[in-house]
Amino acid sequence: MIGAGAAGMMAAIFAARRGRRTLLLEKCRQPGLKILISGGGRCNLTTTKSGKDLEAQYGAARGRFLRHALRSFPPTALREFVEQAGLPLREEDLEKLFPVSQKARDVVELLLRLVRESGASLRTGNGVRALRRDGDGFVIDSDGGEVRAGSVVLATGGLSYPKTGATGDGYAWCRDLGHTITATFPALAPLAVDEAWVKELQGIVLHDVDLCSLDAAGRVLCSRRRPILFTHKGLSGPAPMDLAGDVEEQRGAGAVRFDFAPEERADDLERQWLAAIAAHGTRAVASLLPQRLPERARAALVSRAGAAGTLANLDKAARRRLLDATKRLCVPVARSLGYDHAEVTRGGVALDEVDPRTMQSRVAPGLFVCGELLDVDGPIGGFNFQAAFATGRLAGLHA
Ligand SMILES: Cc1cc2nc3c(=O)[nH]c(=O)nc-3n(C[C@H](O)[C@H](O)[C@H](O)COP(=O)(O)OP(=O)(O)OC[C@H]3O[C@@H](n4cnc5c(N)ncnc54)[C@H](O)[C@@H]3O)c2cc1C
Repeated sequence: MIGAGAAGMMAAIFAARRGRRTLLLEKCRQPGLKILISGGGRCNLTTTKSGKDLEAQYGAARGRFLRHALRSFPPTALREFVEQAGLPLREEDLEKLFPVSQKARDVVELLLRLVRESGASLRTGNGVRALRRDGDGFVIDSDGGEVRAGSVVLATGGLSYPKTGATGDGYAWCRDLGHTITATFPALAPLAVDEAWVKELQGIVLHDVDLCSLDAAGRVLCSRRRPILFTHKGLSGPAPMDLAGDVEEQRGAGAVRFDFAPEERADDLERQWLAAIAAHGTRAVASLLPQRLPERARAALVSRAGAAGTLANLDKAARRRLLDATKRLCVPVARSLGYDHAEVTRGGVALDEVDPRTMQSRVAPGLFVCGELLDVDGPIGGFNFQAAFATGRLAGLHA
């Protein structure tokens, strides 16, 4: 096994429990670095979502690939697995599950204990430099010397947060062994936005606002109603981060669109505005906007629409501009803040070249691929660990 993150440790535990002689090689001195920093140091291990709803989080094709892994090891099974090993979990907002202790370190320690108890050997500070075929098996060239193996589980992760050890090493080995690597992009990262009004709202968090990603032709790719945080660099928080992979895939031609009043249809909203204008002409234009929006946000929308003043002075053109700003404010977004800030990598080992029931490569028998190295990613909410644990377990059960 190469890579002692969530997927690799899981694979080692399940392979060794079957009596397979298992060696887990890890480049960093500390295994599970990404688990340690996940969920703000608390580790959002999985979700309470299940079934089709769970699969849908990964998108249609990726969800279909993960179906067997997720059905054979759903979030309830992952929860039982860690709770039986002594780490109780509890549910928080957005159906997220965290350790009751609130410590990601407890997750790493638990996995390391299970690796030890399974009989697998773990060598840390032992980076793998090359992997090649040797007859029916493989030769692994590592910092600690050459290792021969009948089968190899690759769990080296993607390209996100390279300081945790994930530097995309597995892609090159998979490519050399005949695999296709789909284009990779940073995902779950804050969005870089250059517009002045966005930067001026720095520090504000919006709830109950819809944000969607658009392709170059203006078509909606994905829509999210989750918190949005304005920062000095652009947009952060669950909704913008969930859309980062889509933005990156547009290669500079992407955009996001706000709907600040998602519960109201545009024509209903305009009708309400007309009634308010007729009845309260002396009120400020900002009074038309949803009162749950912070005052600074309302002022920014009015100013962007060039509609400042009182309701009595709001002419039809300004009213329409304000309606556009409220219901469909488009912001061009060329990129996210990149891999250094991305929680996950979109793209990776092509899924049609991996058997979804075993994680065994269809092009290089004896090779197993799991975790983020695969072309699989999910939104914020424990979905990426869930996929890593479930695919790592399958690889361990079959390697
Ligand atoms: C800041 C942050 C917060 C996150 N929070 C959450 C969260 O709360 N919930 C959630 O579900 N997901 C979260 N994620 C995503 C989640 O951490 C990853 O999806 C998951 O860790 C992927 O697991 P993995 O085992 O496939 O890869 P990784 O965790 O990246 O593990 C790969 C391992 O392989 C090792 N390796 C790489 N190359 C070599 C080599 N050449 N030789 C030997 N070893 C090598 C690396 O050092 C590393 O230990 C977060 C990610 C980040 C960066």
